[in-house]
Amino acid sequence: MKIGTPKEVMEGEARVAMTPESALQLQKLGYECAIEAGAGKAAGFADAAYKEAGVEVIKSAAALYKAADVVAKVRPPTDTEAKRLRKGQLLISFFWPAQNEAQMQQLAEKGTSVIAMDMVPRISRAQKMDALSSMANIAGYRAVIEAGNNFGRFFTGQVTAAGKVPPAKVLIVGAGVAGLAAIGTSTSLGAITYAFDVRPEVAEQVESMGAEFVYLDFDEETQDGAATGGYAAPSSPEFREAQLAKFRELAPEIDIVITTALIPNREAPELWTEDMVKSMKRGSVIVDLAAEKGGNCKLTVMDDKIVTDNGVTIIGYTDFPSRMATQSSTLYATNVRHMMSDLTPEKDGQVVHDMEDDVIRGATVAHDGDVTFPPPPPKVA
Ligand code: NAD
Repeated sequence: MKIGTPKEVMEGEARVAMTPESALQLQKLGYECAIEAGAGKAAGFADAAYKEAGVEVIKSAAALYKAADVVAKVRPPTDTEAKRLRKGQLLISFFWPAQNEAQMQQLAEKGTSVIAMDMVPRISRAQKMDALSSMANIAGYRAVIEAGNNFGRFFTGQVTAAGKVPPAKVLIVGAGVAGLAAIGTSTSLGAITYAFDVRPEVAEQVESMGAEFVYLDFDEETQDGAATGGYAAPSSPEFREAQLAKFRELAPEIDIVITTALIPNREAPELWTEDMVKSMKRGSVIVDLAAEKGGNCKLTVMDDKIVTDNGVTIIGYTDFPSRMATQSSTLYATNVRHMMSDLTPEKDGQVVHDMEDDVIRGATVAHDGDVTFPPPPPKVA
């Protein structure tokens, strides 16, 4: 069978789902590999490098879709791309099935199978395929780099002949995958780093990374931060008030705020209010990684950078992984390659779509003519 990767068509998307390195691994599984000409260019992978790795370079997207048995890409298909998919073909990409129902239905009716990389169950066995974590890790890192690029001072404190420089104070709100990556980056650059999460169990992780966990003056018994599967639940009004009061107290002192707070299947909670922004020092920076879900900061403008009247820069970009396209493509292509490995038990270049397998079942949203989303909960952890 042949795995084909088209060039991403969404404007500004620089990632690619196959790299020369992942293609070599896919060939070891018995597959032929093909790529649309120029698909890796924005991520730093030239057609020549693919050819050298034994990948067929196909001129047009239409021809690529025709030739491939498995189409591996990054973004969910556009309508034009979806039309190109056919019966019996397998699509592997981010798909966001809850927000993409009509297309999921269409593809299922057509007989295309769809594996949504965003639906890979977050169980230990599936970590190597967890593209959400790969991308969140990059987003967290890049958020700090972006903040540093817009902050006029050092992160680390210095005593120099030209004067004493205080260390920057960074607050990370939400210590999931992206938040922990941001904490690691911020502390390694030498900033005094604080972090907060509604899930108190992350305090130890935060502290082990050299940051200070921000505790609230709140009865832990009634703190309702954790829901099932390690995700957050919406906070009670009392808890939220205590959280906002703490942030209000911190705002005038903090130089950089990175917000990453999300609750599955909901709008992002608003945690950094207008009055907090107003009380921040001129030159401070906010990077809102929740911008795509409505933002954690009231003033965030999605996909844009603004500077408020009091000189606070607020960054609401939603393409952090694409801004590090070589790294993100490498990790994503590896996640896809591991998914293909699980789909190819005999390493004979033939897909075995085993719906009894928890990970494959969890990620499959269309198969054999049916919509298969939402999946049943995984049987093992
Ligand atoms: P996420 O992107 O859904 O949310 C980011 C963080 O925001 C979470 O830590 C959440 O608790 C926090 N948050 C929500 N509301 C908040 C609020 N009001 N104030 C402050 N923080 C708030 O989370 P994620 O990064 O996808 O990770 C969620 C969980 O999944 C974590 O427990 C993580 O360890 C776990 N996980 C497990 C695996 C695995 O086992 N394979 C892989 C990845 C993640």
